[in-house]
Amino acid sequence: MPNIVIIGSGPAGVSAALYTARAGVETTVLTKGPGALDRAAHIQNYYGFAEPISGAELERRGIEGARALGVQFVSTEAVGLTYTDKLTVETLAGEFPADAVILATGASRAAPKIPGLAELEGHGVSCCATCDAFFYRGKDVAVLGSGEYALHEVQALLPVVKSVTLLTNGAPLTAQFPPEVTVYPETVDAILGEQTVTGVQLNGGRQVPLSGVFVALGVAGSTALARKLGAEVEGNRIVVDEKMQTTLPGLYAAGDCTGGLLQVAKAVYEGALAGTEAAKAVRKG
Ligand SMILES: Cc1cc2nc3c(=O)[nH]c(=O)nc-3n(C[C@H](O)[C@H](O)[C@H](O)COP(=O)(O)OP(=O)(O)OC[C@H]3O[C@@H](n4cnc5c(N)ncnc54)[C@H](O)[C@@H]3O)c2cc1C
Repeated sequence: MPNIVIIGSGPAGVSAALYTARAGVETTVLTKGPGALDRAAHIQNYYGFAEPISGAELERRGIEGARALGVQFVSTEAVGLTYTDKLTVETLAGEFPADAVILATGASRAAPKIPGLAELEGHGVSCCATCDAFFYRGKDVAVLGSGEYALHEVQALLPVVKSVTLLTNGAPLTAQFPPEVTVYPETVDAILGEQTVTGVQLNGGRQVPLSGVFVALGVAGSTALARKLGAEVEGNRIVVDEKMQTTLPGLYAAGDCTGGLLQVAKAVYEGALAGTEAAKAVRKG
């Protein structure tokens, strides 16, 4: 039986799962827990509720409905996405190969406004260690982040580069980093360099010379995961076609991560469309 892996258990991911499961496709939802909907105290503008319903309750009911259709939910965090003969989602609980993947991780967090970060993207600032590590072989690089996602990027870099420094930008460490990684807990004042990255300026005056900075803050959002495979992203929004497919065949996106109206109704609609189209594609293939 063909299979589809969906990342995210908000209204977009769960709506997609309802359509893929009912189309006879084995469906797995990977989730690190409640998303934006859980923070909404009252939803008053969604179809079918005469009285306002809490976001948490709406989310719970959605998941319950999908489970009843046989959708499997796995509590884990997606940290990477690769393609060899199949799309494969890398998570803290292992690898999940799939015939199609639907990204539904909600809106990306805004990247911190560190001077030089946006200006030097593609010139020493990278969002994908797996894609770009090779360009930094034998060089000193840093990973900007402090959690499991940052650890995943560190592990991709260590065998290739000369040294990896971790810049937590003031955030607490939430993963166990290898001892060869030097950790700077200060906030980052600036990424230095004119044409290309030459280092970073830390709060308190320390400068660290570097050839590259890999951004892996917080949790890997859909845009970071899409970028790993070269799918087109515009700002914080994943570019999709009329079938909710990204610019990479087999990779779909739905909900807040595609931008536009950040509302439950739009997430549910896009999930339904992505699920329908992805299921159609994998059943054909
Ligand atoms: C305070 C607040 C109030 C709101 N009020 C309303 C309202 O009244 N009406 C309305 O229509 N909308 C409202 N919204 C917006 C609505 O909640 C969102 O538009 C909707 O939840 C988007 O759905 P989504 O599935 O795209 O993302 P989300 O609901 O954010 O779900 C994202 C999912 O992805 C998972 N995830 C993220 N990263 C990873 C990873 N790396 N690995 C595994 N899983 C991951 C999360 O755990 C979560 O399950 C509100 C939002 C907020 C924050």
